[in-house]
Amino acid sequence: MIYIHFPFCRSFCTYCGFYSETVSGCGGRSFESWTGQVCEEASRRTGEILATKGIDTLYFGGGTPSLLSLDCIDRILEALPGGRGHRYSEFTLECNPDDISRELCRALAGAGVNRISMGVQSFDDGVLRWMNRRHDARGARGAFEMLRREGFDNISIDLIFGISGMDDALWRRSIEEAVALSPEHISAYQLSVEPGSALAGKVERGEYREAPDSQCARQYELLCGMLSDAGYSHYEVSNFALPGRESIHNSAYWKRVPYVGLGPGAHSFDGDRTRLWNSEELSGWSASGETLGDEDMRVETLMLGLRTAAGLDAQWIAENCDGATVSRLLGEGALAIVDKKSGTRLRIPENHFFVSDEIIRELI
Ligand code: SF4
Repeated sequence: MIYIHFPFCRSFCTYCGFYSETVSGCGGRSFESWTGQVCEEASRRTGEILATKGIDTLYFGGGTPSLLSLDCIDRILEALPGGRGHRYSEFTLECNPDDISRELCRALAGAGVNRISMGVQSFDDGVLRWMNRRHDARGARGAFEMLRREGFDNISIDLIFGISGMDDALWRRSIEEAVALSPEHISAYQLSVEPGSALAGKVERGEYREAPDSQCARQYELLCGMLSDAGYSHYEVSNFALPGRESIHNSAYWKRVPYVGLGPGAHSFDGDRTRLWNSEELSGWSASGETLGDEDMRVETLMLGLRTAAGLDAQWIAENCDGATVSRLLGEGALAIVDKKSGTRLRIPENHFFVSDEIIRELI
């Protein structure tokens, strides 16, 4: 399971806190240099990559990896253990709608990309302008339709809710437009003020006030209801999929499966106690890390597992959480017992997903 971080964007979105540099002033030369360094890192870490082979996925995230040339993608594929000919069970590339062209679609399909994750965020032009997105709603629809025409049958789109000034009617229209396209997967995130983002500056200057919790909760409920009616399963707090189209790559993160992250700012995990992260610098990034103690592992297992519909093994919870708290949460309906073939599990029911962080904090 491999994640590759491409740290360039054409412009910065208002809310974004990911590590990224603007393309202007860097251009193709920096892409070349980044590609060379990723190839070198891939070769150096071949042993680690081979150790993650249980889940055979590749994910190009960013940044905006749809800015990459086919030549750069090919060189990276060649440097990975499977080489260029390897067909991953899931190979996702994040795309900006503005970058989608027939040529790009054909190049990506030829490289083996079989899943597209497209940052749409909203189908309202006013909201998109406020976000400083490059595309408008029409562009997003057009990009989606082109991906479909070119044969991509596994597309995820991202949406954002909980924006001050975006009322429920506007949000409902965005969900309706998303559903009308029938993507296999939808990720929807509540707007948060990320340190270092343009939005954080607006908050500091008094130009933006976060939306009240009541609005965010209402919009989340609307999302859950409309996507359930449209046949999507809500398999993680922020993620919805048509049957059988859950992301293999992201689902593995939540199960604490090992993965290797290449590129500046990318994280890696050995599936046990070691987490590594690369420094956020364009040239000569280096890894540092930590060894998780028993308590770190307990907290991490709770935080990742209870955000999913699959929940956690009931026996594990009994051994790792306070019994009185678990009983109380069960009594309040904040936890539910689910019987699976694999055994009894406990999950946070969908109608409590919005407050999952609070429930998990109580169990910690
Ligand atoms: S949201 Fe995506 S496109 Fe926008 S600045 Fe962040 S990484 Fe770049």
